[in-house]
Amino acid sequence: MDNNELHCNTMSDIERLIQQSQAYKLVSRQFHPQDTKIQVGNVIIGGKKIVMMAGPCSVENKIQVMETAKAVKKSGAHILRGGAYKPRTSVYSFQGLGEDGLKMLLEAKKQTDLPIVTEIMSPDKVSLVAQYADILQIGCRNMQNYDLLMEVGKIKKPVVLKRGFNSTIKEFLLSAEYIMSQGNDKIILCERGIRTFETMTRNTLDISAVPILKKLSHLPIMVDPSHATGKRDLILPISRAAIAVGADAIMIEVHHHPEQALCDGDQSLTPNEFDEVMKGIKPIIQCMGREM
Ligand code: PEP
Ligand code: MN
Repeated sequence: MDNNELHCNTMSDIERLIQQSQAYKLVSRQFHPQDTKIQVGNVIIGGKKIVMMAGPCSVENKIQVMETAKAVKKSGAHILRGGAYKPRTSVYSFQGLGEDGLKMLLEAKKQTDLPIVTEIMSPDKVSLVAQYADILQIGCRNMQNYDLLMEVGKIKKPVVLKRGFNSTIKEFLLSAEYIMSQGNDKIILCERGIRTFETMTRNTLDISAVPILKKLSHLPIMVDPSHATGKRDLILPISRAAIAVGADAIMIEVHHHPEQALCDGDQSLTPNEFDEVMKGIKPIIQCMGREM
């Protein structure tokens, strides 16, 4: 190891190094310097291409999913998102369509050829959701659901792990380590904003988490500007910023009629607005030496 990189002058330096490597050794770049690339269908996440995941917050009905899927595909999205199991703050809010929603996503996949990412909330649903989805998502509220992390660690499908809104970067990496400890190394880390005193946005996007995670881990990094801001007019500037700091993928909520959305309408883009975002990020993608 280069002398400039590491000086273990004291016992506490050595102890710190051991502690860190024990904490998240599998997800750490320390023993795995090259970037992890995850293939989903024809798309590689963590390569040169900026991968765009787009679709509704929740699957609501066949027409909504199909129309939105076709629109985001036309604008150049690579992966279709949509929640069938929804972690809602209020028990009285729409909770998602469950397996019926998964079926609608699969139908949209067949028609558009877009792979699917969808959320999973409990360990006993892993095998069911994995039958439909190409990528399983663990939402921010479940980042520390260790039983769930262990269960998705045992399957072969890629996992989007979202950072808890009250979790540190270290806790985030420790959660990814749970998944990887079970043999699944296909993990996409997603920064989706953390809770601060600021109320202008739904959450505060921790933009510096992107280069920090890139430095500490070999896993691909995604940014979700929709949940980070809660506001549709912030999606373009924040997507640009995310790409400029090194994100590998972006996840954006799109709804064919956001004003009728059962969940997260304020942050959902119309298909036209999504198309504008796809055009608006192009110069930054080129500037960063990445591809669309
Ligand atoms: C989502 O992506 O649908 C979602 C619920 O996001 P988060 O877990 O980041 O709130
Ligand atoms: Mn949402």
